[in-house]
Amino acid sequence: MFESLQDRLGSIFSGLTGRGALSDKDVAAALREIRRALIEADVALEVVRDFTDRVREKAVGVDVVKSVKPGQMVVKIVHDELVEMLGSEGETIDLNAPSPVVIMMVGLQGSGKTTTSAKIAKRLTGRDKKKVLMASLDTRRPAAQEQLRQLGEQVDVVTLPIIEGQSPSDIAKRAVQAGKLGGYDVVILDTAGRTHIDEPLMIEMADIRKHADPHEILLVADSLTGQDAVNLAKSFDERVGITGLVLTRMDGDGRGGAALSMRAVTGKPIKLIGTGERMDEMEEFHPKRIADRILG
Ligand code: GDP
Repeated sequence: MFESLQDRLGSIFSGLTGRGALSDKDVAAALREIRRALIEADVALEVVRDFTDRVREKAVGVDVVKSVKPGQMVVKIVHDELVEMLGSEGETIDLNAPSPVVIMMVGLQGSGKTTTSAKIAKRLTGRDKKKVLMASLDTRRPAAQEQLRQLGEQVDVVTLPIIEGQSPSDIAKRAVQAGKLGGYDVVILDTAGRTHIDEPLMIEMADIRKHADPHEILLVADSLTGQDAVNLAKSFDERVGITGLVLTRMDGDGRGGAALSMRAVTGKPIKLIGTGERMDEMEEFHPKRIADRILG
């Protein structure tokens, strides 16, 4: 995760902190290198521009050049701006609503929706001691419904039985009803994906939203798709409205462009990251911890 940026920033900073004095020119050169490193990590250009502008402004404001440890000052400014860019405090799933709290999972096929639904269910039942019901709304792919059922068994979470012929919004209504009657705290709706965004998918998502009134709508996106994931989040947000994101396959993502740009471009928080295929391989997204990790 973030290895390319870690390496690049590491060498830029060791060049800065190893010296006693810095000139304005040195700072400007470092900023150019930081800019290049962010672009190579596939961070959205507008985000790179804003970021370097803010670092430059702060660096001038605190008179980096005249400070005792100018290199360390630059590192600190970059760190703080990175945290800001990633969303400061960080956010996680919000369960602050009347039971059952409905969490609707949306995203493209193969992004990791079903896996993430089960990971979230496992975390909520285990760590948070919640009573959770999961339902698959993928009426076009029986294999997807079966996959959720099997994962449910694996993590010991109930899945809504399938009734042939029901539409996705019918299943959503039935799941919420079963959630109410059964005294569940949380209902997780795993919706159908497609290989790309199309109109029927958006209409289906909007329809489910109307009937299930979810408190959280989480877009699951593959971090390896970089800026495509960011554009996907924008489109889903415009059409369906999302409350946050889960970025999967962070374990294989050495660049991290989607994770780094997502918040700044979409205004929506990354709430969780997937770090592997196993049911416990999911982490909360803490901007400060991520910045610490990137800057070593
Ligand atoms: P869906 O079509 O969106 O429901 O996607 P799935 O949940 O079926 O996931 C597709 C594949 O991605 C499966 O093989 C998962 O095990 C895998 N996967 C999901 N999340 C992660 C992750 O965070 N890291 C890795 N390495 N694999 C993941």
